[in-house]
Amino acid sequence: MSDHRDVLDGRVAVVTGGSRGIGRAIVQHLARAGATVVIGDLNEPSDLDDGGSITCAHLDVATEDSVVTFISEVVASHGNLDIVVNNAGIMFEEPVVGHSVDRWTKALAVNLTGPFLMAKHAAEHLAARQGIVVNIGSIEGYACNPNHAAYAATKGGVHGLTKALAVDLGPMGIRCNAVAPGWIDTELNASYIDSHPDRDKIVDALAKLHPIGRIGDPTDVADVVTWLAGPDSAFVTGQVITIDGGRTARPNLPSALW
Ligand code: NDP
Repeated sequence: MSDHRDVLDGRVAVVTGGSRGIGRAIVQHLARAGATVVIGDLNEPSDLDDGGSITCAHLDVATEDSVVTFISEVVASHGNLDIVVNNAGIMFEEPVVGHSVDRWTKALAVNLTGPFLMAKHAAEHLAARQGIVVNIGSIEGYACNPNHAAYAATKGGVHGLTKALAVDLGPMGIRCNAVAPGWIDTELNASYIDSHPDRDKIVDALAKLHPIGRIGDPTDVADVVTWLAGPDSAFVTGQVITIDGGRTARPNLPSALW
């Protein structure tokens, strides 16, 4: 285990969807570990406050031209690209019967084609630098909440893509892993809680689904991503690491029993 904080000194990282939520926590953790970080997002955050090691450039991961332009700009500005974190994602509720094909296609484009395009166009730069790709999957890549067909399908796809990238890009010296977060407190799922008349009750019930007794924080994910982006995980590739407070380790029981 490295014993210094600057394990990512001299490394250049990009984090898609890094303006808020889990992505923002990852950006801050990577910068704290010494990396120069470029956020690629549809919108720039209003509060970049780190003294210059974090910048932002426009990126729509669902559009190949935008991905190509973004990666070229990062390499032109910083000289290298070492770490790609594919974090941008969207989620919505829609039942399978009557599901809009447009929304299905949009979910695929952002959640699955996005990470593919980023890896495809970053690979030549990553190869020169023993580069790293970290994808953000989900426990919904293993199982599915009601009305989440598109989301679960894309996240299962992200887990599969992670293995494909590890296999295809491994000979180029590139490692690729994913994390599969459980319930993390961000705007992505806040509407589920906020729309309920008794928010505290729902937070309490959610916490009880987790053996460790709480839902996740973006920093829980950022800690693991930073480890995967650094030298301490040098022999780890093609893996999906679950970060869910033990939620998927415990099969459901009737609530009256616990
Ligand atoms: P948020 O909705 O809080 O943040 C997502 C970010 O991605 C936003 O900044 C958003 O921009 C950006 N984004 C959306 N579409 C694009 C695009 N086409 N190109 C570039 N950026 C885009 O999500 P979370 O932080 O909660 O989630 C981050 C990742 O973690 C996602 O992949 C999600 O699926 C995954 N995840 C989240 C969990 C959770 O419980 N929160 C659990 C498991 C996985 P804008 O604001 O402009 O829309």
